[in-house]
Amino acid sequence: MSEINSLSDITKNGLCIGCGICESIVGRETIKISMTKKGRLEPQEISPLSNENLNKIKKVCPGVLVEGLPKNEINKNSKFDLIWGYYHSLFYSWSTDSKIRFQSSTGGLLNGLSLYLLESKKVNFILHTGTDPQKPMRSISKYSHNKNELLSSGSCSRYGPASPLDKFHEALDLNQPFAFVGKPCDISAIRQLSKIDGRVNESCKYLLTLVCGGFGEFTKSQDFIESFNVKEENLEIFRYRGNGNPGKMYIKTDTGEEYDKDYNSFWGEESTWRVPFRCKICPDAIGESADVAALDTWPGGSPIGEDEGFNAAIVRTQRGLELLNNAIDAGYIKKGNSLSIEEISDFQPHQVKKKQAVFARHQGMKKNNLPTIETTGLRIKELYDLNDKEFNIKEEEGISKRVDKI
Ligand SMILES: Cc1cc2nc3c(=O)[nH]c(=O)nc-3n(C[C@H](O)[C@H](O)[C@H](O)COP(=O)(O)OP(=O)(O)OC[C@H]3O[C@@H](n4cnc5c(N)ncnc54)[C@H](O)[C@@H]3O)c2cc1C
Ligand code: SF4
Ligand code: SF4
Repeated sequence: MSEINSLSDITKNGLCIGCGICESIVGRETIKISMTKKGRLEPQEISPLSNENLNKIKKVCPGVLVEGLPKNEINKNSKFDLIWGYYHSLFYSWSTDSKIRFQSSTGGLLNGLSLYLLESKKVNFILHTGTDPQKPMRSISKYSHNKNELLSSGSCSRYGPASPLDKFHEALDLNQPFAFVGKPCDISAIRQLSKIDGRVNESCKYLLTLVCGGFGEFTKSQDFIESFNVKEENLEIFRYRGNGNPGKMYIKTDTGEEYDKDYNSFWGEESTWRVPFRCKICPDAIGESADVAALDTWPGGSPIGEDEGFNAAIVRTQRGLELLNNAIDAGYIKKGNSLSIEEISDFQPHQVKKKQAVFARHQGMKKNNLPTIETTGLRIKELYDLNDKEFNIKEEEGISKRVDKI
């Protein structure tokens, strides 16, 4: 069985998602995240990585291991579902701030909770992902300290490569309370880091996430602008969605030309998404270890038109429940009807299928002598055992066919 003995064992085997925590651990003089030719953000060793640092990275990297909700976060009030894991409650929700609701990805639940945390002074800043103001097709990790910074950061769904954790240690060094908003793989890295760095739980007070189908490699965005003969250096605005729900994929050039595409026609068939290999073998794309996970609520999984934006909230921890309740009481978040786990599955059929398929995909990697992600508490083997044999064989063979394209 192939093992991980170097940073490049993670990247060359398609296990890296570009989260940036390795760079944050050792510093930019040793590891630098940069865009690869394939359009992924990946770390490069600039100077030799010591064994000690490699071992530290292996303890947190979401390409090496991913775990479910920490046991101490599960209590007698937690409910459980084999696909969706542990949760306290499920309900429709959205930001009561009309600007946030309009600009955000869905209904602004995550930005609305971020605003509440800032204005109630529960945290000093939010570490999240926004648009690079100089190069709007690219994403950057950023700190927001107030409503203005939150709203002006282009911080709705960024469906391209991002390294949300590249400043995580810088944030810890500030020794101030903050919240992190990012993808489930980012949250996993933070949970693992908290086991070896006591400052994480001291300072990073809330972990908020989105249910995540993966992102498109940078080449997908490049092809989009090139289809209108636009060059990256001429972009003034580049938006994947938002300004409505789902809102359009939209660009504006420095000479004022505007182009857009409907959400459904941009994403279309799953086979055209160009998601990185790591996303196809993702054992937790549903934010199992976050305090709260936000998701879209389109029956069947795709929008049939524009609406005002209705998130679903999966409240996973007691801390998440208190946060939601307080934000609702303070008037920042509107709580809609309760939801059942069956409705959540109906909104996210691709997540249900992936959760059922992922163990077979890992088996396919192992059969090809490739390392894969170590998992605990994510039930992927139990789900595999419940599947039809043909389904498992198809998934295992499917990944085997893809390994030479990693
Ligand atoms: C890569 C990706 C995949 C997605 N897949 C799904 C899916 O399968 N199902 C689904 O229901 N919804 C998916 N979404 C959309 C989004 O999760 C939902 O709309 C969710 O309900 C959040 O909506 P919101 O209005 O609360 O978000 P907002 O209030 O707009 O907040 C979005 C938050 O996400 C952060 N963020 C944006 N892009 C990134 C990124 N690339 N990396 C880390 N953090 C980021 C921002 O910093 C911001 O804090 C995806 C979004 C992304 C970025
Ligand atoms: S997934 Fe994150 S920690 Fe792992 S190698 Fe990639 S950037 Fe580094
Ligand atoms: S699908 Fe998984 S690996 Fe890919 S971006 Fe989403 S959470 Fe990360």
